[in-house]
Amino acid sequence: MSIDSDNTIPVWNNTHIYKDFNDPALQQDIETISTICDALNDKALVLEDSAGEDLVRILVEAIKFDEKASILCWTASTFASSISSVDAKNDEASRLDAKTNTLSARIEQAFKPFKQYLLKAPDDLLEKVFSDDDAAGYRFYFQHQRKRNVHLLSTEEEVAISALSVDGLHSWWRLYNELRGSLRCQVGGEEIGLASAFNLTLQQDSVKRKQAWDGIQNAWGSREETAAAILNAVNGWRNEESQLRSKIEPVHYLDVSCHRQKIERSTLDALIGSTEAHLDIGHRALKGMAKGLGLDKLGPQDLHAPFPSAKSDAIGYRTFSDSIDLVANAFARLDPAMGEFARTMYKKGWIDAKPSDNRTTGAYCAKFPKVGEPRVFMTWDGSISNVITLAHELGHAWHNWVMKDLSFCETIYPSTLAETASIFAETLVRDALAEHASTDHERLETAWLDAERASAFLVNIPARFEFEKKLVEARAEGYVPASQLTALMNESWAKWYQDSISGYDPLFWAAKLHFSISGMSFYNYPYLFGYLFSLGIYAKKERYGDQFSDVYRGVLMDTGRMTAEELIEKHFDQDIRQPAFWNESLDIVDQQILRFEELLDKIT
Ligand SMILES: [Zn+2]
Repeated sequence: MSIDSDNTIPVWNNTHIYKDFNDPALQQDIETISTICDALNDKALVLEDSAGEDLVRILVEAIKFDEKASILCWTASTFASSISSVDAKNDEASRLDAKTNTLSARIEQAFKPFKQYLLKAPDDLLEKVFSDDDAAGYRFYFQHQRKRNVHLLSTEEEVAISALSVDGLHSWWRLYNELRGSLRCQVGGEEIGLASAFNLTLQQDSVKRKQAWDGIQNAWGSREETAAAILNAVNGWRNEESQLRSKIEPVHYLDVSCHRQKIERSTLDALIGSTEAHLDIGHRALKGMAKGLGLDKLGPQDLHAPFPSAKSDAIGYRTFSDSIDLVANAFARLDPAMGEFARTMYKKGWIDAKPSDNRTTGAYCAKFPKVGEPRVFMTWDGSISNVITLAHELGHAWHNWVMKDLSFCETIYPSTLAETASIFAETLVRDALAEHASTDHERLETAWLDAERASAFLVNIPARFEFEKKLVEARAEGYVPASQLTALMNESWAKWYQDSISGYDPLFWAAKLHFSISGMSFYNYPYLFGYLFSLGIYAKKERYGDQFSDVYRGVLMDTGRMTAEELIEKHFDQDIRQPAFWNESLDIVDQQILRFEELLDKIT
């Protein structure tokens, strides 16, 4: 069996959302958004002169409008990306995507006066607004935002910043994507795109991995000053904005990120500190992988090298339908409804995995909030890591599904908690794979995935975090040229990888897209957080027995309406500001790597 003969690979069906780009329902939704923005603008004019019941009514209505417009805009935006993911060259999809970006900025600006008002409003007024069922879903959002009121600017300044960001700050991210899409790499005498070159670093042949990695280095090297200009612009903007917000109290860049991720600084410190104290776990994983590949040490081009299955009796191609069964069964052992949900996603055409021309790389989970339906996008290749990706994205989808009856605002969760749900789902499937394995080779195949995951989360992610801190601080001193970015990256890798690998990845700052994302800083430690946080929750499975699936659903339900500290205290009575919580998770990884090392000893 191979991809070509596997007729079980699904494509999604979204025609009941909108038939196509000319569907009158889509035009109607776009008009509704415009009408709502106009109405909000009108209401804003009378806001300052209103009082008593009138004022409460206006604020509640504004919240209802914001919610309705946001749901429609999000739905149209997901529709655009559902088409462009399958066919990146679809112009109509790009147009709709650009349109929804503009509309989203319009909604934000139209709601801004009400947002500012609610941020500064006295507690009793707030209480009146949020005791109305129509507005109750915004309670946590405002409670949380108000914690940073000391850095709030005037309404005019806030509107100006968000209006200027559309073609200012966020243009740099668009430029990065343009660059990433157009860069060509020379690999083994052939010219290929970055995504294809990256895929070659995931293959068995070590010579081809090195060729592909060199090709990627040369490609980024040829445009390193452009990539450096992007990082400087994005971080320069952020530093400048922080300056503006520092009139009363200085803004710390890590506080900005932690607030967004709904965690406290002490939690971040405990997370990073515990990981650093257990650095040997990740290093042992890297050394084990090198041993498995017959190398003295891994090079930067080997970090994603697959299990050397050519030497083993490991299972080859997995069909999509077999894999969805495997994932659904693994989910069902925790919660039958979760297993049933995975099958529903497949049966209803909510997954798109069939390889197609002009397809985007990567995998994601999206949602159509108008109808409360999730979607999963990925490209099937039948490998074991593909099965894990499927589990990961279905974990996100289950998270969305559990929350579907909450108010829209309460379904928006931070990346830290998003990655918790996906990695938790992965762990369910990894455990099932390990249990089903009948030979040591098969066991090593899943243990290999554990090792790769441990090295990525416990070493690579902290190195990215380290680099971004250095970048922000260097940018505050002035422009940071490409040569300095390379030096900072090497220093960051030296701190975390030390001598566990044979060389570092000097242009990682350009090649890894996360550093250039304009909408969010420090999109790195949330992955480490999700990894260890989900293992910490998973470890409580035995203690809660039959009740555990309900507890887990309860955790997911609350991810959009409390901080991570509150969440874990409420459901597990533990304090994630303390290293003890994280150390417990790290002990689990330690055991996994021990098992990996034992299997390696047995087989090699
Ligand atoms: Zn994810």
